[in-house]
Amino acid sequence: MQVKYIFKMENLMSGCIMCGNEDLERFPAEFVPFLQERMFQNKKVETFLCHCPTCGFYYSSVRPSDEEMSRLYNGYRGEAYQKQRQKFESNYTEAFNHALGFSEENEILRNSIMLGCVKKYISPSCIKTILDYGGDSGQYIPRIFKKAEKFVYDVSGVKTVRGVKSVSDERVLKNCSWDLIMCCHVLEHVSYPLDLIEKLKSLMHHGSFLYIELPYEDYMEDFIKQGLPVPIHEHINAFRKETLEQAFGSDEFFILENEYVSGFDTDGSACSKYLRCLVKKADPTEFPELEKMKSACKNLSDTAVLGYNVVDKITALRKRQTLKEKIFSVKKVKKHRVIEILGIKMKFNV
Ligand SMILES: [Zn+2]
Repeated sequence: MQVKYIFKMENLMSGCIMCGNEDLERFPAEFVPFLQERMFQNKKVETFLCHCPTCGFYYSSVRPSDEEMSRLYNGYRGEAYQKQRQKFESNYTEAFNHALGFSEENEILRNSIMLGCVKKYISPSCIKTILDYGGDSGQYIPRIFKKAEKFVYDVSGVKTVRGVKSVSDERVLKNCSWDLIMCCHVLEHVSYPLDLIEKLKSLMHHGSFLYIELPYEDYMEDFIKQGLPVPIHEHINAFRKETLEQAFGSDEFFILENEYVSGFDTDGSACSKYLRCLVKKADPTEFPELEKMKSACKNLSDTAVLGYNVVDKITALRKRQTLKEKIFSVKKVKKHRVIEILGIKMKFNV
């Protein structure tokens, strides 16, 4: 078979795709043979592993296109998928494949990890609507939310479990008022995770919660230590607590919990630790400091860029930057306070 080498533009990207830091470490890496066949149709795609020392994020330099992603995920964990994968990974049997998505053990594990966090901060009776973004059939939405209307948004289009409705229309997704959004074991798969985080933020109203769960993977560190190329499987991203701290580093979102928890191996990726994070979009009155700045800026022509809409506006313009540190800096200089937004400095009397 003739092997075709593809060089992707993404290899030229310089900054961390989550926080924008340009001082990245790069290590030799390669896609596992299963992905090379299924996703890239046997074209040899060169990649390396990037590590951002600022936010701890690890990711493959190649970001698969929508077409490559749909080749991988269409019929995900279906019969053909399982057979194709077992060709390369002998332990990926039919029973193993089934257990990943549908076993009771997995459901119990996922529920216990999530509820161990959300029960501390959320009273189930206060949640009227839940969206499980990328939640397969909706089987992982905890049953304690008895009164809530439950929805799932999933590209695979699989049939939902009883009591869960499917939402596929983007307009419906945007127009619903979600009290709790779950996004579990999704962000490690996507090519543009920051875009997805921004989308999830845009679906939240003041007072809503976002629960994120991810595998904690550190196998790459062993390969790096031994000087071996790091194998890249379908988890093309590996998050750390710091990555999420940066991603929610605006005054509008509170991180209620962001921690590593232990679990047992369920998804075949040698992952026994998880990262879980609960974020709340708070009411503006919960941010007295920003309120003060807004009122101080009332009479200026730049007022339009201040306030809460500024977060979305600036994020859209400079996605890879850290809002607090690089765009929205506030310094006290003698008797003045200097606020810098998008390079515009404004001086206010204290
Ligand atoms: Zn980073």
